[in-house]
Amino acid sequence: MEQNDTEMIDCREAITKLYMFLDDEITAGEVSKFKTHIERCGHCNEVALFYEKFKKVMKSSCGVEMPTGLKEKLISSIKAA
Ligand SMILES: [Zn+2]
Repeated sequence: MEQNDTEMIDCREAITKLYMFLDDEITAGEVSKFKTHIERCGHCNEVALFYEKFKKVMKSSCGVEMPTGLKEKLISSIKAA
């Protein structure tokens, strides 16, 4: 079994980075890690696409931050997957 911790992050970490990415609170190195995961993981890919669209709508409509409860719901649905 080959382990590549530096390159591959797990789904939970990928989603955490996704939030940071969308909030522009992420470094370039972290972006590439998270994008590598998204490319290989269909589940996170879908979440990322959904989230990106959602965030754009939020920004263009009223600039409101995503409610904390919604973030938590998304995280728990990902953990359950
Ligand atoms: Zn994943």
